Amino acid sequence: MALRFYNTLTQQVEPFAPLQGNTVRIYTCGPTVYNFAHIGNLRTFTFEDILRRWLRARGYQLDHVMNITDVEDKIIRNAAAEHKSLAEYTEKYTQAFLDDTATLRLERPERLVKATDHIKEMVTAIQDLGARGFTYQSDGSVYYRISKFPGYGKLSHNDFSGIRAGARVDVDEYDKANARDFVLWKAPKDSEPFWESEIGPGRPGWHIECSVMAMKYLGETLDIHAGGVDLIFPHHENEIAQSEALTSKPFAHFWLHAEFLSIEAQKMSKSAGNFYTLRDLLSMGYDPESVRYLLASVPYRKKLNFTFDGLKAAATAIDRLRNFKLRLETDKFSEGANQKIIDRTQAASIQFGESLDDDLNTAGALAALFEFVRDSNTAMDSGEFRVGNVRPALDLLAGFDAIFDVLRPSQKQTGVSDAEAQTLIDERVQAKKNRNFARADQIRQQLLDAGIILEDTKEGTRWKRK
Ligand SMILES: [Zn+2]
Repeated sequence: MALRFYNTLTQQVEPFAPLQGNTVRIYTCGPTVYNFAHIGNLRTFTFEDILRRWLRARGYQLDHVMNITDVEDKIIRNAAAEHKSLAEYTEKYTQAFLDDTATLRLERPERLVKATDHIKEMVTAIQDLGARGFTYQSDGSVYYRISKFPGYGKLSHNDFSGIRAGARVDVDEYDKANARDFVLWKAPKDSEPFWESEIGPGRPGWHIECSVMAMKYLGETLDIHAGGVDLIFPHHENEIAQSEALTSKPFAHFWLHAEFLSIEAQKMSKSAGNFYTLRDLLSMGYDPESVRYLLASVPYRKKLNFTFDGLKAAATAIDRLRNFKLRLETDKFSEGANQKIIDRTQAASIQFGESLDDDLNTAGALAALFEFVRDSNTAMDSGEFRVGNVRPALDLLAGFDAIFDVLRPSQKQTGVSDAEAQTLIDERVQAKKNRNFARADQIRQQLLDAGIILEDTKEGTRWKRK
């Protein structure tokens, strides 16, 4: 079975191929840079990273555009409160976003574009929509007339036929019950920042920026548009209404949406005290690879219940894989190759790929890998694993890590407590007694990675932190 994705637009799993040539043109909604990204946001961005990596593993090239929303209601409010210009205020959080995504090993999209660099194009698009009869003005603002667009509701699968024509909203975010004509260009209130333009002084609404930047760089019909489920309505519905009114062509072939994340089965919120940024988790001693692993391990269309037990389990899972890799690299195996294990490796590789082809079933891919690791460890213990089995196993691990990217420890990792260090040292003493020097060396290396240096003396093993 070929690569396939669930398309929110058709509500079907469909085979995927780019519309033209070998390059997949993707647009994903980026951050609104008014604070640090929380892990719910980062779940969506991690899904998009897995999507990128898997498309490339399947031989495609990528042209991926992500916007940075650097003008918006909350930004304006917060910047004013801090007596900063928009640029000054958003610079800090844009950089923080780039740092966080780099820490999580999320690949940079081919193009990262700022809304405020595209005001002129947005004004032109609003004028074009006006020429086509899709807009009207009120109090200096320009609104999109949704009753003029017959397909309104086709992405969110809502029936909006009963909506009251002319009811409108100025805010960028609103709920389903409030389908309204939405704002394209907002007249400035009080001392809000604004741009002079042919349609009057003002600033763009959130929705128009994505339509304009997506089509500017990627053309009128994208291969994939992705984001979180919270964006389906109104944001993506409005993007379709704007773009298709301008081009009379489908705006995106595939719409992919990542589900919500909860914390210990609770909705994440500041008021509930369970609101976490990546920085919060790192300062609690968790490493970025564990966070990445946990975010990636649940298939993107399933709700993700983020728990601290899950985070610890992620760290353990990564350790198992690192230990397995080290064992492949350092254990002494007897000559030859075991054909059964070669076949087993191939089967795992196929199952890994087929799982990801199946709408990025990351859980299935991980299951395939871990079953293989378990069987291989057993074969190593019994001496059935041979020198000739090492290379295929390392290749399988490399294929896994090209997507999941968790095997390399982060530089700053210091997440080993004194008690954990002592447990590992005790295990190492036992391993040496059993003449399992590979394991002993592995533990030494693991502790070294965590900044802990061992010194073997007649009185036993001493240790200190670097
Ligand atoms: Zn968007």
